[in-house]
Amino acid sequence: MTAPNFTRTVLGVPRIGPRRELKRAIEGYWKGSVSRSDLDQTAAGLRRDEWARLAAAGLDSVPTNTFSYYDQILDTAELLGALPSRVAGIEDRLDRYFAAARGTAEVTPLEMTKWFDTNYHYLVPEIGPETAFSLHPEKILADLDEALAQGVPARPVVVGPITFLALSKAVDGAGDPLSRIDELVPLYRDLLARLATAGAQWVQLDEPVLVSEAGLGLADTAAKVYGALASAAERPSIAVATYFGSPGPSLAALAGTGVEAIAVDLVTDPDVVDLVAGTPALAGKLLIAGVVDGRNVWRTDLEAALATLGTLSGSAAALAVSTSCSLLHVPYTVAAETAPEPAGAAGVRAWLAFAEEKIGEVAVLSRALTEGRPVVAAEFAESACVRAARAADARLNDGAVRDRLAALRAAGTGRAAAAERAVAQRDRLGLPLLPTTTIGSYPQTGAIRVARADLRAGRVDEAEYVRRMQAEIADVIRLQEDLGIDVLVHGEPERNDMVQYFAERLEGFLATDNGWVQSYGTRCVRPPILYGDVRRAEPMTVSWITYAQALTERPVKGMLTGPVTILAWSFVRDDQPLADSADQVALAIRDETVDLEQAGVKIIQVDEPALRELLPLRAADRPAYLDWATGSFRLSTSGVVDDTQIHTHLCYSEFGDVIGAIADLDADVTSIEAARSRMEILDDLNEAGFANQVGPGVYDIHSPRVPAQDEVESSLRAALEAVPAERLWVNPDCGLKTRGTEETVASLRNLVAAAKAVRATL
Ligand code: GLN
Ligand code: ZN
Repeated sequence: MTAPNFTRTVLGVPRIGPRRELKRAIEGYWKGSVSRSDLDQTAAGLRRDEWARLAAAGLDSVPTNTFSYYDQILDTAELLGALPSRVAGIEDRLDRYFAAARGTAEVTPLEMTKWFDTNYHYLVPEIGPETAFSLHPEKILADLDEALAQGVPARPVVVGPITFLALSKAVDGAGDPLSRIDELVPLYRDLLARLATAGAQWVQLDEPVLVSEAGLGLADTAAKVYGALASAAERPSIAVATYFGSPGPSLAALAGTGVEAIAVDLVTDPDVVDLVAGTPALAGKLLIAGVVDGRNVWRTDLEAALATLGTLSGSAAALAVSTSCSLLHVPYTVAAETAPEPAGAAGVRAWLAFAEEKIGEVAVLSRALTEGRPVVAAEFAESACVRAARAADARLNDGAVRDRLAALRAAGTGRAAAAERAVAQRDRLGLPLLPTTTIGSYPQTGAIRVARADLRAGRVDEAEYVRRMQAEIADVIRLQEDLGIDVLVHGEPERNDMVQYFAERLEGFLATDNGWVQSYGTRCVRPPILYGDVRRAEPMTVSWITYAQALTERPVKGMLTGPVTILAWSFVRDDQPLADSADQVALAIRDETVDLEQAGVKIIQVDEPALRELLPLRAADRPAYLDWATGSFRLSTSGVVDDTQIHTHLCYSEFGDVIGAIADLDADVTSIEAARSRMEILDDLNEAGFANQVGPGVYDIHSPRVPAQDEVESSLRAALEAVPAERLWVNPDCGLKTRGTEETVASLRNLVAAAKAVRATL
């Protein structure tokens, strides 16, 4: 039952393929161009290669079952017999799985939401009164067989029962899913027995929920559940993995059970070192020490990490060196960055460590620990040298940027009172009551994609590309005039991804060629890397907006992305507080608003859809975050005069925790996703004292469904119950870029008609 301890590992690995092979195979399978057996072979090849890499790097325990055709939580729902009943009729196992993930013509998919504070999204299991848990371990056992046949020291990774239930949602009137934890314990015991029989020496049960706010109340549950699992007669050694923060009271609770190992994240929260030292029950355990950052891209400070390991060594029976969390959240390897480095970012690549390089760092640290530092002296020296060069780099410390920021912070970033601004803007803009507008992007047409590809391949030059984008803008302006929309947008054809667009134009950011990270399912993103002080070399959006404005008498909104969102969707610096990086981005955005204003733009929208995303997992950390986040937004939007109208846009639901912050942003107009929550957000905003103008989304843009005019009218009437007409705007929930043109035109026609009808009754 007790397996030998291991010394070096990682908690998980990327799985989409070094060249996104899995994405292509799965999407081909969906389209019918890749056969089932080709898909399975691609997947098996990726697993095999990954295990071989991990073993070759010298890891003496290799995480397996980290592979997934879509999502590890969906895998766990399948494992526990908890797929929704609406897919039960689908005979084929994989097609049933994909139906739950993406829906079909007949069934709606599971909801998707963010995996803690990362940019990965998981599918939310639905637990209803009819959910009858049962064990289906075929996938995990097959994966284990493969790994053992390959001769790797396999440690299957499974989402733990507490996290699984805590992330599920109750449906059909069921109570809190966690109330069913006792039903899962025997299933996990059964699973452990099956894994032991199949030859697993270790199993890793992931319980990241223990670091969240909800986790603070789950220590007793952790003690009970893991006590029961550890007492199983037949099982592998158990490692419980906590990550993304401090396990808090759960650490002692877990240490008090019979589990053999506990993984802790020593990167996210420095207090975890003391927590470990203050947990005597760890004395008999293997402590899996996450000293290599699993979710950012910087090379590790090996000296500091080794010192941390030294501090911890007395607190546990043994130490294993590891990453702080799964490497799912970083790209495969820096070695795949082969294009010439952009001149401004020369040398920055040497500062980076992606998954492959981090695995190497784990091995080096572990050797230093087990064989002594002299064995890896060369690696330590090289690493220290690179870190020193990075720390001394002038691009990380731009005096001009820092001086300007200091001066602005000292001067304050308030505008005149909102009510005063509203009067000035009303006089200048002369808009009707219930003005209509959209959130920014219009459908990404085939012509846009072709133009982008042509530019990239060198088939057209920059001038021709600009001409084609202008043609798209002209179409979108004409369409909006035909529809009778009051405040127009240019449609954002030039932005594939808005954060990427701004990062490419700001000094201090590095774009990658192959730095793909799974966002959800087969969707991957290439987050920009913020490595230095941020500077705007020249205007980034002015020519597009002024081109659009010249085509119409109606006001066109300038369209920018806010500092919090730009950081949320990038890899960020680890050498200064996030708040400082945010203010630097804010300064660049502020300069852009001033240039837009000077070019005659009367309305500027600064999107912050990710405001809620960066919210810390623990409530105690939230006020400080919201304080700098809203301050940074105000810094970015307070450079304009009173009669320039600032809009912001928020989406991705669940605003409960940030309602007060929305008021603190002090935008003149806030458009906010509301259709799915049926305008409830307005009451919440009222309660929080929000008194500025607001555009609650009147229809959901996540589906191709065209809302009928009377539906939109009734939404507006509902909104008018909560907000006076003088403060109400009419707009969709979010940008339209994922939608088709036809449904968009039909939807907006109904939106405008509804606004006019309701206006006539005021
Ligand atoms: N202006 C952006 C758009 O319309 C906003 C995107 C977002 O909210 N995610 O696409
Ligand atoms: Zn949005």
